[in-house]
Amino acid sequence: MIHSSHQQELYPALRILGLLFLVALIILLIPMPAFFRGASDYLALHMVLEAPAIIIAILIFSLTWHTPHAHATRSLIVLGTAFLGVGIIDFSHTLSYPGMPDYVTPSGSDKTLTLWLAARLLAALALLYVAATGWRVAISPMSAKALLLGVLLAVALLHVLVFFFPQTLPRTFIEGQGLTPFKINAEYVLIGLYLLAGALLLLRMRRQRTFNASDLLVAVITMALAEFFFTLYADFADLYNVTGHIFKVVAYVFLYRGIVLAALRQPYARIEQLSDMVEQTPNPIIVTDTNARIEYVNQEFVKSTGYTAEEVIGLNPRILNSGKTPRENYRAMWTNLSQGLPWRGEFINKRKNGEEYLERALIFPVRDDNQLITHYIAHKEDISAKRAAEDRIRHLSFFDQLTGLPNRLLLEERFQFLREDALHQDQKMVLMWIDLDNFKDVNDSLGHVVGDRMLVDIAERLQNCMTVTDTVARISGDDFIVLIPDADVAAATVRVEQIKNALGESLHVDGHDILPTASIGLALFPADGEFFEILLSSAESAMYQVKASGRNNYHFFTSGMQQKSSRFLMLSNAIKLAIANNELRLVFQPQMALIDASLVGAEALLRWQHPELGEVSPDEFIPLAESAGLMVQLGEWVLNKVASQLQQWRMSGHPVIKIAVNFASVMFARIETVDDLRAILHAYDLPPTLLELEMTESAAIQNPLETLQTMQQLTAMGLHLAIDDFGTGYSSLSYLRHLSVHKLKIDQSFMRELHTNKDGQAIVTAIIRMAHELGMKVLAEGVETSEQLEFLRAKGCDEIQGYFYSKPLELDDFADFLLRHRE
Ligand code: C2E
Ligand code: MG
Ligand code: MG
Repeated sequence: MIHSSHQQELYPALRILGLLFLVALIILLIPMPAFFRGASDYLALHMVLEAPAIIIAILIFSLTWHTPHAHATRSLIVLGTAFLGVGIIDFSHTLSYPGMPDYVTPSGSDKTLTLWLAARLLAALALLYVAATGWRVAISPMSAKALLLGVLLAVALLHVLVFFFPQTLPRTFIEGQGLTPFKINAEYVLIGLYLLAGALLLLRMRRQRTFNASDLLVAVITMALAEFFFTLYADFADLYNVTGHIFKVVAYVFLYRGIVLAALRQPYARIEQLSDMVEQTPNPIIVTDTNARIEYVNQEFVKSTGYTAEEVIGLNPRILNSGKTPRENYRAMWTNLSQGLPWRGEFINKRKNGEEYLERALIFPVRDDNQLITHYIAHKEDISAKRAAEDRIRHLSFFDQLTGLPNRLLLEERFQFLREDALHQDQKMVLMWIDLDNFKDVNDSLGHVVGDRMLVDIAERLQNCMTVTDTVARISGDDFIVLIPDADVAAATVRVEQIKNALGESLHVDGHDILPTASIGLALFPADGEFFEILLSSAESAMYQVKASGRNNYHFFTSGMQQKSSRFLMLSNAIKLAIANNELRLVFQPQMALIDASLVGAEALLRWQHPELGEVSPDEFIPLAESAGLMVQLGEWVLNKVASQLQQWRMSGHPVIKIAVNFASVMFARIETVDDLRAILHAYDLPPTLLELEMTESAAIQNPLETLQTMQQLTAMGLHLAIDDFGTGYSSLSYLRHLSVHKLKIDQSFMRELHTNKDGQAIVTAIIRMAHELGMKVLAEGVETSEQLEFLRAKGCDEIQGYFYSKPLELDDFADFLLRHRE
């Protein structure tokens, strides 16, 4: 029935109404005390009874009229202005009371009652209006003034009629006869209007509360009660008349409560609500006057700074200054504020306990109705924790997690930063691409843990070589980049030598001794690339160049490298598919005995026919295959190819001969090679003497322990071993004896020098003699001329291989060659 939002007010209101009805009943039941009958001093009593009603009516007007515009509603203004009218008319009613001196015209009952009825009617209509239309509709200041003017005009008109044209108004009292029927009926009509208003108010209360309808209900019902007493009185001074007046005052008190207090409290309630909001906002808030003196701080400010409100009020917010906020921030802030604009920025501030914190602030001016700035409000947020998290994220995204070095992203950022400087000051920069040699082998053979430890160690060494302005970054696996600002070729050379030395020291990880080396490519800014990517790729090309020419060195970028490096990349990828795509084949180069020019063997050499690039030399693709970790796969492929060919020839009755196969160092370093070879010999049913394994001299001195083991097992199986390219490494012959090597192959570079260089002859002579002393055979590679042949024959060399006799031959040609030399 009644909306719950009204109940809190309605129940006390109903109790008061009940009480008033009780009082009314008692008054009606008790016999009229004699005191009131015709009391001669009733005039004064009447004035006492009217005065509060008049005061309240005027108060209602003045308070409602000055309600701030934003809160004024139409109902409030209608009630306020109507009650101004009511107050004025009641005042005239009091002045015209019988016994009063002349008030424009002589006072008297008819005059005073007419004014009385008019006042009651105005009040009743205003209340009815509010009860019927509700509360909320806003009213413009213009309409409010029009309404006030209307009420005042009506009141003036009433007075004109009462004073000067009383005959136009219905009579309310006739001397000697008493109240006229008009007057009595009018009271009943008023009672009806008040009750109607009461009923409408009750109906309103079925909806959500928008105003204090309960107090208004008490007011209208009490008015009705008052009117009821006015229908009863026989004498102006009797108890009923007095009761009517008292009830009227009671009614006005409730009106005052319902209207004025509600209207007055509403803005204060709003202010309180707003101030609670500010006070409880979980961000620190400071309000200052235009001289930046603190007027207000909220709870969160107190919590976050450690200062109490009392401590800071009247002070300048600079008490929070840590001295670390950049001056520009303050300057920018005041520039904005003095122009009346908001400013957003950050401060490094200090709490009362001295702790510094990072604060983000929004500061804005507040203006009054005249657009004058009255205050500044600072809305702040402690972002220290947030910034720390951001820094952490930044670290994650800008640094390599394994080594802690900057990653590619940060490297690029630093480059861009330095680039501006370098361009302005016409300086060069150097970018080095450092790629560890054979890192993949470390990972594969010793495991990732060791590999990671190695990378961390290398990172440390690199960092120790850096100055404050240098950057060393790790951009992938074993690729490190060093960026050195303000450096030219000479400076770069000094630095890269340093780095090379630092990297070259041996490393002990988990009981392993590793001798790290690196291939380093250098590119200069801006000559080799004005932009990051280009400079980087130039350095990479230079690095590949180092890889291709034997690693463990450095190279500056040259323009010719660009093409090479793109070919390098293409081939690096293509070699991985060469076996599967059937692009590989073998050629065979005969080996002849010097004594009788008989065929003693042949070397199998790999050939790669790339579908687009054509024939690719093994000198080019073998290093690529090594980098790609393909050597084992290639070695097995060659072995199988050779073995199956030998088997085929043997089964078809074709003559056969010992074939030498080039074995990469990894093949000897892995113990499985022994089993693989045994399996192959078995599978193709080959005698081991038909295979010779070639190992380069440099391979022989790597991994000596494992290599020794493998070689011993292989020779034990009856296989022959030859040392390839002998003379290019630093192995001692006595060491090679331990490896039970059968043959030394003198590197072809000695042949080229044989007739231009005396030393060359001496070395070759010495090699042949010493090898023979150790029981090894000697083969000379790359023999092209008869002079070379004669020299070698004179020195007792056993075999030769070279263009003089034959170039490497395709399979069919070699088969013919075999037939011709071995029937
Ligand atoms: P290598 O083992 O020393 O092979 C001899 C190289 O000398 C061959 O080059 C051969 O064609 C070349 N040659 C032979 N006689 C003469 C001559 O009279 N004058 C000149 N100027 N050169 C001569 P190729 O075939 O280009 O192979 C180059 C290198 O590639 C080989 O040197 C070897 O180290 C490597 N290689 C070739 N095939 C394989 C293979 O199947 N496995 C492995 N691991 N390496 C291989
Ligand atoms: Mg060879
Ligand atoms: Mg060779």
